[in-house]
Amino acid sequence: MSEDSLLDNALVRLDAAAAHLNIDADVIEKLKFPRETTKARLMIRMDDGSRKSFLAWRCRYDDTRGPTKGGIRFHPDSTDDEVETLAFWMTFKCAVMNLPYGGGKGAVQVDPRKLSKTELERLSRAYIQAFSRIIGPDRDIPAPDVYTNSMIMGWMADEYAQIVGQTVPAVITGKPIALGGSLGRGDATARGGYYLVSHLKEDLNFGASIRVAVQGFGNAGQHISSLLACDGHKIVAVSDSEGGVYCASGLNLDALLAAKASGNSVVSTVGQHGHEFLAGHDLVGVEAELLVPSALENMIDEDNAGSVKAQLVLELANGPITAEADEILAQNGVIVLPDILANAGGVTVSYFEWVQNRQGFYWSVEEIHERLRTIMEREGRAIWEVSQQKGVTMRTAAYVHALSRLAEAIEAHGTQN
Ligand code: GLU
Repeated sequence: MSEDSLLDNALVRLDAAAAHLNIDADVIEKLKFPRETTKARLMIRMDDGSRKSFLAWRCRYDDTRGPTKGGIRFHPDSTDDEVETLAFWMTFKCAVMNLPYGGGKGAVQVDPRKLSKTELERLSRAYIQAFSRIIGPDRDIPAPDVYTNSMIMGWMADEYAQIVGQTVPAVITGKPIALGGSLGRGDATARGGYYLVSHLKEDLNFGASIRVAVQGFGNAGQHISSLLACDGHKIVAVSDSEGGVYCASGLNLDALLAAKASGNSVVSTVGQHGHEFLAGHDLVGVEAELLVPSALENMIDEDNAGSVKAQLVLELANGPITAEADEILAQNGVIVLPDILANAGGVTVSYFEWVQNRQGFYWSVEEIHERLRTIMEREGRAIWEVSQQKGVTMRTAAYVHALSRLAEAIEAHGTQN
């Protein structure tokens, strides 16, 4: 990857899209910088009585189209550059799906696997104490992201309620069902990607049974594997932070899910069910028709993009492909269904959760699935058409689609803001 910051790398996509639209330079200037990024140091008491501090951020990138929306990540490598880039992507993702939101993101620089449950709860509550004046149901609405989950969102919603003196379920999404969470939020990221691929399968020339390689076996990776396997597709390779497993005739999903549920790596299944060990970095080059990056940023870069054998990449992670790698994949005829469309199912069901919280009336899981499918198909089709008409990649088409909505909203706000 180049020496540029992650945000500089992300802005390359904005410029590529702007070249296809006749929009004012003012619009691009507004979208090049985050509106505000707040940094805090969270101090918590550890179980042994010692005090420990953690760096934390909340970025509200752009709120032109509505309150900022985006998850909170707990990761030891998080930085302000990463948070701002993720918030930039949320801005475009919400515009792609036409959700009435801008983009935001938060992070704590921590390895949550090294904390006890009580320490994790204190850290989650400390995050809300630090940022309670920034967030709010009409201002900035957090959600889960890498290494955060519904339990953490529940603690955070509770802390917010304590601070403001009333329950405000719509301040945070991805909550436990018992606290106003939505049915269907758990697998929404993967399900959105699954609806997208299923809808475009004729355009993409996909057969009834394809081979799939999944990089990252957390929430998104596990659910996409299950959804595709149910349709008769073969999951031939998966990996997590410890390494990967491969089986040409298809991995045993039950065994993989059981390993993860008991806190083990997918690698612990090597030797069972015909599973062979696969080095994590070899996963992108596996013989498969579909590659699904479901982990972190920059997993496919200029060094390994040439080894991708799949004809289609479904980006369930945010930013897994660098701008340089994008060009190599395009030259090799690999179609990439980009993150701001492919993984937008998560924030879309978050939006449904927020709507249900505000109306106090809750939908069935069938209704959630149908609404999600409708939006994924509508926006996916529109972006496919843009890519065909303009002869551009699906990523550029998705940015064009989102940028035209953002530009319209920025112009509608008038010239002084
Ligand atoms: N963290 C998820 C994402 O990157 C979901 C965000 C949300 O639900 O607000 O899209």
